[in-house]
Amino acid sequence: MKRRLEIAIRGVVQGVGFRPFVFLLAEELALSGWVRNDSRGVFIEVEGPEPALSTFLERLRADKPALAIIDALDARWSEPVGLEGFEIRHSADSGEKTAAVLPDLAMCPACRADIEDPSNRRRGYAFTNCTRCGPRFSILRALPYDRPNTTMAGFALCERCRAEYEDPRDRRFHAQPTACPECGPRLFLWTPAGERLGEGDAALDGAAAALVQGRIVAVKGLGGFHLLVDATNNAAVHTLRERKARWAKPLAVMARDVEAARALCEVPAAAAELLVSPQAPIVLLRQREPRPVAPEVAPDTSQLGLMLPYTPLHHLLLARLPFPVVATSGNASDEPICTDERDALSRLGRIADLFLAHDRPIERHVDDSVAVVVRGRPQLVRRARGFAPLPIPSPRPLPAILAVGAHQKATIALAAGRQVFLSQHLGDLETPAALSVFERVIADFLRLYAVQPVAVAHDLHPDYASTRWAIEHARAPLVPVQHHHAHFAACLGDNGTDGPALGVTWDGTGLGLDGDIWGGEFLVGGIAKATRVATLRPFRLPGGESAVREPRRTGLALLFELFGPAALEREELAPVSAFSPAERSVIGRMLAQPLNAPRTSSAGRLFDGVASLLSLHPRASYDGQAAAALEHLADPDETAAYPLPLRPGTPATLDWGPLIEALLEDLRREVPRPRIAARFHNALAAAIVAVARFANERRVALTGGCFQNRLLAERTAAALERAGFEVLLHRQAPPNDGGISLGQALVAAAAL
Ligand code: ZN
Ligand code: ZN
Ligand code: FE
Repeated sequence: MKRRLEIAIRGVVQGVGFRPFVFLLAEELALSGWVRNDSRGVFIEVEGPEPALSTFLERLRADKPALAIIDALDARWSEPVGLEGFEIRHSADSGEKTAAVLPDLAMCPACRADIEDPSNRRRGYAFTNCTRCGPRFSILRALPYDRPNTTMAGFALCERCRAEYEDPRDRRFHAQPTACPECGPRLFLWTPAGERLGEGDAALDGAAAALVQGRIVAVKGLGGFHLLVDATNNAAVHTLRERKARWAKPLAVMARDVEAARALCEVPAAAAELLVSPQAPIVLLRQREPRPVAPEVAPDTSQLGLMLPYTPLHHLLLARLPFPVVATSGNASDEPICTDERDALSRLGRIADLFLAHDRPIERHVDDSVAVVVRGRPQLVRRARGFAPLPIPSPRPLPAILAVGAHQKATIALAAGRQVFLSQHLGDLETPAALSVFERVIADFLRLYAVQPVAVAHDLHPDYASTRWAIEHARAPLVPVQHHHAHFAACLGDNGTDGPALGVTWDGTGLGLDGDIWGGEFLVGGIAKATRVATLRPFRLPGGESAVREPRRTGLALLFELFGPAALEREELAPVSAFSPAERSVIGRMLAQPLNAPRTSSAGRLFDGVASLLSLHPRASYDGQAAAALEHLADPDETAAYPLPLRPGTPATLDWGPLIEALLEDLRREVPRPRIAARFHNALAAAIVAVARFANERRVALTGGCFQNRLLAERTAAALERAGFEVLLHRQAPPNDGGISLGQALVAAAAL
């Protein structure tokens, strides 16, 4: 008997070859009807014998294209109306816009074969892509995702491309950015004055020759410009640092393939998988010694951020080079990444010697994502290309909420329906340019998803640029969310739960409910409500924010807290001898008064203080530098731990006093510093287990920037599991402040 099915599918189903898959499946099962994209996803009407329809429904889920994610599938049976044949219909633009936008994806193996095949018409063509790969989010102007709604609108398909585009059996069927050398974007090489030196292959050859000579080339990639330079040429890397005014922060490196990556770093299997994945993030890896890359690429760290070529353009360029390249974002220090080639000439003209650019417009900037492998699985440090703007699914419908995030590593989030759309990484909101990107992305998300927020969530900190923006510009009621509650909620949401759990929220800085600077907090509860049950013993930060740049200040403050003014005389200790006697007495007065020395319970600052006791980075050139050095110093085989007792109270406090005293004793006995660093990490892991027993929640969420520290995250998670607890780690959103907007959106949704 013939019947009819109406099927509505939501999820990541546009731009992934879903409609041709439906077409071919219907054809195979001899069913009639049609399929089309709408702003919510994909809609299908299909008729035929009932058993064939049931098979169709099963195989929609079972055989879906690799990149598709089905969040919801609604099927309604009805009587047939006599549809004939099966067709792919034009998109309908109606109703709410909840269709997930796909992120930009790295070139697939089939496209790679195309550009390397001498007989293929796309041989050497830098803008080759198909439904399995290529630009998406960075070229999208509006939903639904169709070519006229992308920056490819201006490139009319040639006859052969059109034939592929219209053939449901072709890999490029409705591949919106599809192109070929005849009809697509063009590559060109410019001098900083905008003078054209070459096109296509000649442009690539010219750029490669310049890199071989040690020159700096700005390359327009997928989501913005990179600055490229020979990673093995220290003088060239030095020039790049000088011109960019970026002194110590490690630079990312692009190697031509996994084999080349292995020559530079230790690449465990899970990391290799991540490097070649469609997301193709920068992966933080341990460098081989002696280091093949120039010393100035990643000074004073054993880690290297490594990625592989992810566009045909990068493949073609790296194939011409006998060395890996530094590939850092195309900007002056602290500015947003540059996306437009005209703009690049003025903004990067003093940094780059040449510009390898093209005429496919970038609609929105998307930085490279950064990931680290924790317990064999990826954890994001920076979420952008390959991941944004994929939504984090919610177990229940959410009111429309805009969350504006924190101040550093900013992101915004938009809750709507059963999803939270998390923006790409926006950088630190320190400059007017960064703030204007932040505003543009808010407008972009509201327009793209056609959402009217009923509330705007923001941090408690009045001086965050995001908070100020919310207070001045929000057109909906404000919901302030405490920083560490937001971290906790983000980790719960990331794991698809509302709680209850213990949230270990350890980071550098966040304003607490009592006005102190928090950062070593233990919260019990969930997304709706959380109570601080334990914290780190507080200490003072002499000079406030300047202590972040000078870990030696925190080191001195810890000693002062323990020994009073006598601490200032202990010249055998690094944080004391790092100051002149005059400076010491100034800081001593700040701490004794106390004056301009806010109280903090920050775990990130405790890391700084301990690092400075071990003479690591008395001054830090970026936040977290000293803590990272302490992590990399630690001897992985050391199992002993310093005492870090839990003292009763409301909240209970972890007293680091005995820890520091034991550490000083080890210093006096000249215990090797790698063992001291490890004993410190082990103490923290053991103390977290002690608090978990005290809090008596079965699940423990580890969140906040401190858990980017792989050693801490892995030691703690293992110790908790041995003690019978279930551990929640971040997977989709970063543990650092890049995840704050997600947490804010969830907390505000629960409050409404
Ligand atoms: Zn492809
Ligand atoms: Zn063409
Ligand atoms: Fe934080």
